[in-house]
Amino acid sequence: MAAIRSFTSCHRALSVRISGSHRSFAALAAPFNYEKLFDYDANPVDTKFRKLTSDGVSATTTACGKKLLQVEQPVLEELSRSAIIDIQHLFRPAHLNQLRKILMDPEASSNDRFVALELLKNACVSAGKVMPSCQDTGTATVLASRGGNVLTDGNDEEYISKGIYRAYTEGYLRYSQVAPLSMFREANTRTNLPAQIDMMTKPGDKYELLYVAKGGGSANKTQLLQKTKSTLNEKAFVEFVKEQITNLGTAACPPYHLALCVGGLSAEQNLKTVKLASCKYLDGLPTVGSKGGRGFRDVEWEAKIQDIAHELGIGAQYGGKYFVHDVRVIRLPRHGASCPIGIGVSCSADRQAKAKITEEGVFLEELETEPAKYLPDIKESSLEGGGDIVKIDLNNPMEDNLKLLDRYPVATRLSLTGTIIVARDIAHAQIQAMIDEGKDLPEYMKKYPVYYAGPAKTPAGMPSGSFGPTTAGRMDTYVDAFQERRGSMIMIGKGNRSAQVTTACKKHGGFYLGSIGGVAATLSQKSIKKVEVLDMEDLGMEAVWKIEVEEFPAFVVVDNKGNDFFKKWAKEAAEAEHDSFFDETKDFFYGLDKDSSGSLSLEEIAAGLGITIDQARGLLEKFDVDRDGVIDIMEFELMILKNANMRDSLLRGMDA
Ligand code: SF4
Repeated sequence: MAAIRSFTSCHRALSVRISGSHRSFAALAAPFNYEKLFDYDANPVDTKFRKLTSDGVSATTTACGKKLLQVEQPVLEELSRSAIIDIQHLFRPAHLNQLRKILMDPEASSNDRFVALELLKNACVSAGKVMPSCQDTGTATVLASRGGNVLTDGNDEEYISKGIYRAYTEGYLRYSQVAPLSMFREANTRTNLPAQIDMMTKPGDKYELLYVAKGGGSANKTQLLQKTKSTLNEKAFVEFVKEQITNLGTAACPPYHLALCVGGLSAEQNLKTVKLASCKYLDGLPTVGSKGGRGFRDVEWEAKIQDIAHELGIGAQYGGKYFVHDVRVIRLPRHGASCPIGIGVSCSADRQAKAKITEEGVFLEELETEPAKYLPDIKESSLEGGGDIVKIDLNNPMEDNLKLLDRYPVATRLSLTGTIIVARDIAHAQIQAMIDEGKDLPEYMKKYPVYYAGPAKTPAGMPSGSFGPTTAGRMDTYVDAFQERRGSMIMIGKGNRSAQVTTACKKHGGFYLGSIGGVAATLSQKSIKKVEVLDMEDLGMEAVWKIEVEEFPAFVVVDNKGNDFFKKWAKEAAEAEHDSFFDETKDFFYGLDKDSSGSLSLEEIAAGLGITIDQARGLLEKFDVDRDGVIDIMEFELMILKNANMRDSLLRGMDA
């Protein structure tokens, strides 16, 4: 009985304790208070718009007093066409002003000023609305916010896509989108569609849009890092930021508009915030946090990170202060166990425009049509650093030019005039195959510098479309073998190279020169005087071209003594850019290599290609360049390259 009494009093005491703690938990909860996670208009931003039209837009009021905005189909199509054309050719005044500021800043290096000047000149050329500002005309991205009282027929994405299609197909823009036909088979859509269109709704009778054209090099710099609370203190955060912005490198053509997002309720929210911040779309957010968890701009950290980036010394591509124009830092709420941190850039092709449709009409953000007014009224020679530019006549014998370059350190600015060979991935593979077959290099590879580049469409009456450098790192594996035979002794491209290039240049006396990224329009209009196909015409755009250039700007990046301008900041290997031909071919190869030996035997070739042993032997005899009785991956690439039918049949096999 005593035991039962004791249990009962114990139970009562426990119940009191539990109900007491219920009361205290309830007391801990905050009252409901809806707060916008993204309050875009907390600090209104003054955006100037130009009116396109009033046609196709009409306002009505319902019997119960609700205002409705009717938007007809052609409005979205025409607005989207105009927006994409504008952003491919024109820049925001603020961006141009930042370039001007570099020219006026005594702390900017002479290379900073030179790059800024070239970017401003490029803006002047592209403003003519023929040449796009960059040869990579990007992926079209649209963020559309439709008010709940805006009426359309609901096919908004289709009309927006049609406008984008017209802009890309009617202008001199490049098609970059590849459609997946199967897991490993892809084909260019030849329209630059699909576009990424994100539709959102909001209250009201206004339709707001943001148009962006994001280049591949720029998009590739976006990173998400899943960190922990341990990064959220001043010391750790500074270390983290330094490392991440150094890793960005220069392949996306600085000066950058850098954006970071710390936190986020999911990884995808974090990265979307990075992108919008880099487009200045979140500039109106509050600048302090709140207990409700709203997102905010941390302007103090924006200034600190800008200083860090300026002090790195990378500068606007070739040393100096202006690695970034500006920085945006957005702080978002997070799950206590996650701390996503995203980082991204808007590159020198800073292509965005806002648009809105209201009862007053259709409006597009006013971009600058007269960029020349941002060129300062001072002598160009003072901006270019006077006598620092070394002129190179490329038509002089190669050995003479190598001797001339030998006298100058890395980061020296050059002005190139004469003949350059343009060759990229597939042409390099073909030349490598010649070497493997025991043949010598083509004479043109020895006689002239090689430029890794690609153009946009060519406007009528012009030698080429916007013609800019591509990432040089993809050609790294060829350099030693080519230079051993006195080819590729002077290479021109953008971005850093791997150690194998520095080693080859030191061993053979070669040089790698950096061209300015982001100035494709001015390069084609001012520096490229003549373009003709020289070799491998059947490769189409991948053929070997011979171009004549005048005062083509470049910098010494890797010299013949083992010096590499980027070494201080670069990672071990240059980042390789995606190339669909070789990815596809490698996939075929590994699919046939059943015993994973790294080479294809007679039996594997026969089984994989569905041919007889005798037919496989015929192929082996033809393509087994080093006569070791098997086909290695290089030999296989050559075999596919030389045999379009075989590639097609492999593709069919993969589809089956
Ligand atoms: S400026 Fe550079 S990174 Fe930007 S789209 Fe052009 S090539 Fe790509």
